[in-house]
Amino acid sequence: MLKIENLVVSYNSIEAIKGITLEVNEGKIVSLIGANGAGKSTTLKSIVGLVKPQRGSITYQGKDLLSTPTKDMVKHGITLVPEGRRVFANLTVLENLKIGAYSRKDEKEVQKDLEWVYELFPKLKERSWQQAGTLSGGEQQMLAVGRGLMSRPKLLMMDEPSLGLAPLIVKEIFHIIKEIHKQGVTILLIEQNANAALKISDEAYVLETGLISMKGKGKELLENS
Ligand code: ADP
Ligand code: ADP
Repeated sequence: MLKIENLVVSYNSIEAIKGITLEVNEGKIVSLIGANGAGKSTTLKSIVGLVKPQRGSITYQGKDLLSTPTKDMVKHGITLVPEGRRVFANLTVLENLKIGAYSRKDEKEVQKDLEWVYELFPKLKERSWQQAGTLSGGEQQMLAVGRGLMSRPKLLMMDEPSLGLAPLIVKEIFHIIKEIHKQGVTILLIEQNANAALKISDEAYVLETGLISMKGKGKELLENS
């Protein structure tokens, strides 16, 4: 579905990504794991066109993504949930979710998806009229994912959804990610939390200072870690 080949990305003269190749097959959960500064976010930003790689290729269902504008990603079914639980703090939960459906006109469809998101995240339903800025960190992360789902992604990419959250909340969020996957969404997960990510991953890649140092089935890497 998504193919990255020999990708090189530099900031000024510093190479953040030094030639990586990876693949996300349709219907899988794939993780890209690495420490702070390894190049995980740079990889994600390259996919959606927020940084311009110096070399290599990125294709999605055979289509060249490097020449696809960022604003068209959602149209192609690619949604990125950015790092840092970005929510519109002054808007309600419901308003935040509706923003996720901004590109779609059919009210009935949007309503159906809203119900889908509320089913996945009952906590968001309970709090639909609450200002997003007053939610807990975990709830804000759920809202950020829920808003991503409102654009009906085929490929949902998440940048460190577990960052700064308590273990129980992380467990809950990862359980929901598995649930989202079961309902037909392909997932690319970026994580520092190797344990949590590997447990739910079909395939995983370990990124170290801009290079893939390991790859394999999630469970195998978990056993070897
Ligand atoms: P990760 O997401 O794994 O923490 P990043 O992709 O954010 O890693 O960063 C990879 C490397 O690129 C780091 O050394 C970081 O300092 C550098 N970097 C990231 N963004 C920029 C930028 N806008 N300008 C210069 N260097 C950057
Ligand atoms: P940056 O400041 O890093 O350039 P932007 O603020 O332009 O990033 O936002 C990037 C994306 O993140 C936007 O497309 C938007 O959907 C989302 N975003 C930005 N700010 C917020 C916010 N306060 N609440 C929710 N989403 C936000």
